[in-house]
Order: sequence, then C-alpha cells, then structure tokens
Amino acid sequence: MQEVLAGELERRCGNPGCGEPVPKPRRLYCSYECAKKAANIREDEQHSRLSSKTCRDCNEDKPIADYRPPRSPRCLPCLQAKRQRDYEKRGGKEYIYGHNLRQYGLTVDEYQARLAAQDGRCAICGDEPPSGKRLNVDHNHETGVTRDLLCRWCNYALGNAKDDPARLRAMAEYLERHQADVPAE
Ligand SMILES: [Zn+2]
Ligand SMILES: [Zn+2]
Ligand SMILES: [Zn+2]
Repeated sequence: MQEVLAGELERRCGNPGCGEPVPKPRRLYCSYECAKKAANIREDEQHSRLSSKTCRDCNEDKPIADYRPPRSPRCLPCLQAKRQRDYEKRGGKEYIYGHNLRQYGLTVDEYQARLAAQDGRCAICGDEPPSGKRLNVDHNHETGVTRDLLCRWCNYALGNAKDDPARLRAMAEYLERHQADVPAE
C-alpha cells in the first residue's frame, strides 16, 4: 500500500526525453508539449511498422521510408513542396526579412533609410554586408535605443567587449603594443 503511494508521488513525465515529475495525479505528462511529443513518437512507431502508405498530395503508394517523419501524411518531395508553398504564402524571403527586423524595432523602410544614410556600409569598419545578408541593428543594451547598423563582426566585438569603450581602447592598445612581436624561436 505504502509502495503504491510512493510510486504515485514519484511519477515522472511519460515523454522519454523529459523525465520531469508530473505535477498532478492521474496525469501522464508534465505539460501539453510533452504529451504532444510522446503522441508523435507513438504515431511514428505505428507508421514505421507499415511497409507503404498513400501520400495525401500525389496519391501514390510509396514505401514508408519515403515519409519523414514516418507519421507525415505526405511523402518527402510533397512535404518539401508544401513547405515551399507555405513559405511563399507568408511572403517568402521578404516576410522573414521584415519579421527579423521588427524584432529589432525597425520596419523594412526604416532599415532601408538607415542603410542608405550609411552608404550601405557598417558604421564602424565600413564593410558592406555579404550579398543576400543585411547589417545588424545595433542597440544600447541598457536603454534599448537603436544605434547604427553594423556588420556582424563589429557587432560581436562590441558585445564581447561588453559595450565598454575603455576596454575596447585598451584592446586596441594591446594589439598595437604586440604588433612587432617576433616568434620566440
Ligand atoms: Zn515532460
Ligand atoms: Zn507525395
Ligand atoms: Zn564592421
């Protein structure tokens, strides 16, 4: 009787990758996400026992290995085609681009205006971004105020130096001090 009770108290989430204690009695999973994950694993196991199934889009009977994950109702080429259709429906590259910028508090137009004002170049080193890439929107991390557009390396450098001008000056002096060093043999 006591052992049963202890077992109840110690019940762990049924998602194999989780193992968290389950918060409420008579629940099998710690969260909705874990329940969903476990259901997907179960469904994949069931489907991988089939030798073949019919794709929802092309209607062809294809071997189960052509379905990734096995529970997918579409064969791999049809799944990829669907993803592409969905991506384009959302606005494709422009959508992703605008979405990423909005995370930094700029619209596409505001970004373009800033880029033009900086002649398309990083405000620190003057490099242009590689083709197809945009410059990073740099921020003052304490105030949240947008500063200028920077290449990723300059942006990283500021972050790694904790946005500390004194440290950055000391780093520059350090490099200059050691510029003429020769290998010790
Ligand atoms: Zn869990
Ligand atoms: Zn198909
Ligand atoms: Zn730069």
